[in-house]
Amino acid sequence: MSQKVSLIRGDGIGPEIVDATVRVLEALDAGLEWEEVRAGSAAFEDLGTPLPEETLLSIGRNQVALKGPLETPIGTGFRSINVAIRKHFDMYANVRPAKVLPGVETRFSDSGVDLVTVRENTEGAYAGIEHAIPPNRSAAETIILCTRWACERIVRYAFEYARRVGRQKITLVHKANILKETNGLFLEVGQSIAREYDDVEFEDLIVDNMCMQMVMRPERFDVIVTTNLFGDILSDLAAGLIGGLGLTPGANIGEEASMFEAVHGTAPDIAGKGIANPTALMRAAGMMLEHLDLTEEARRLDGALNAVLEEGKAVTGDLGGSATTEEFTDAVVAALG
Ligand code: NAD
Repeated sequence: MSQKVSLIRGDGIGPEIVDATVRVLEALDAGLEWEEVRAGSAAFEDLGTPLPEETLLSIGRNQVALKGPLETPIGTGFRSINVAIRKHFDMYANVRPAKVLPGVETRFSDSGVDLVTVRENTEGAYAGIEHAIPPNRSAAETIILCTRWACERIVRYAFEYARRVGRQKITLVHKANILKETNGLFLEVGQSIAREYDDVEFEDLIVDNMCMQMVMRPERFDVIVTTNLFGDILSDLAAGLIGGLGLTPGANIGEEASMFEAVHGTAPDIAGKGIANPTALMRAAGMMLEHLDLTEEARRLDGALNAVLEEGKAVTGDLGGSATTEEFTDAVVAALG
């Protein structure tokens, strides 16, 4: 039986990299059926809303979505369409792997970086509880929300994930020495849950020390579990270690539905030119295949991407090559064998 996937082509370079990714998935013959729905700026222009009800219904029905980057139009009442979709489906775990890729030269190419950031995606400083204090915005307050329940859910997700994919160590990142209540609770919950998983090593690090360690010895990290704010920053830092946002995939995991996307945005400066690098979205599609238990297809996709990057002949401009999105995609399809 085929698996239906909600497909959002998105804005800017979105349609270019989504079409490239769909081509590769079709070539893999993974048995996926696409249900195309709209969101973002282009949807707003055509349909009068950046997040049509039909899009949410489709994701709810299929429980899996593959999404191109979205631009959030100003004045539509949305802070971010991406965040609105994640919130609607309570996609509580944001999972971002960062692994050095063959043929991609970075300062850390020889370091063996291979880590995964698991970020709490619903609470913390990004819960949206903030207000300005009159008169004239003389002050402003943002509340950091931290429930025991959400801490338990994300830390347990990280441990279960580590077990499932055979990873050895969890590093919990916090600032409990200063944010004694919220981050203190996160650390306390983490330490308590860690005792249930004696097959997975556990450590905790304060976020400032973590930043230094990630730059000096990134190879020592395996799975990082952290709060919404710190996860946002550390996962971009991790993307920088392996060559940038154009290579980094992300998954938003929830019980009701999960959504797979590239970490980067709509890249308006190169949109429509046919030169965007689709690697990040193709790697996100690989995460989606694994999520759907299509392990063999995920392995083949990963192998083909690595082969094309390592050979270096058909890579896009951001990686120092001159290939178009289409030429890169041709090479990946050919490498699937
Ligand atoms: P961006 O990631 O779109 O672009 C940053 C730089 O990286 C640009 O120079 C761009 O050309 C380059 N780049 C990004 N992806 C690339 C790719 N695949 N291949 C080659 N080069 C690539 O960041 P931005 O300019 O800050 O944001 C642009 C828009 O995207 C904004 O409207 C923002 O809100 C939105 N955005 C959406 C998402 C999402 O949908 N998940 C994430 C981040 C930003």
